[in-house]
Amino acid sequence: MSVDATLPYDDGNIFARLLRGEIPSKRVYEDEHTIVFHDIAPWAPTHLLAVPRGSYVSWDDFSANASEAEIVSFTRAIGQAARDAGLVAGGYRLIANTGRDAHQEVPHLHVHILAGRALGPMLV
Ligand code: C5P
Repeated sequence: MSVDATLPYDDGNIFARLLRGEIPSKRVYEDEHTIVFHDIAPWAPTHLLAVPRGSYVSWDDFSANASEAEIVSFTRAIGQAARDAGLVAGGYRLIANTGRDAHQEVPHLHVHILAGRALGPMLV
């Protein structure tokens, strides 16, 4: 079910639990502000999720309320994780579903990193 990205942060959400280590994830990158791990239901040969450690419901919340240090760090972490995964030569796509119409399912900001095949044009 899609989430209402205007609701307050719920620290019981699945990515909050994953950040606390209460549920497992296959992490490929982590630093002070960000973790990146494999999506459990991949849409492409490579499907990673970049998640800020801070408690942000969505891209809207993050872009409005995160510190400049967090925003810069998160942006750089996504690029670094993609480089580490060898995705630059073939290319990759970033998606941050935000709210109901975008079908955001988990109410903690995450950026999808998709790669590994020709992804075609964006179909909406
Ligand atoms: O953007 P959206 O909120 O729809 O995406 C949520 C993503 O989180 C899905 O791709 C889903 O497979 C992934 N997920 C995950 N591990 C979980 C729960 C969800 O990788 N434990």
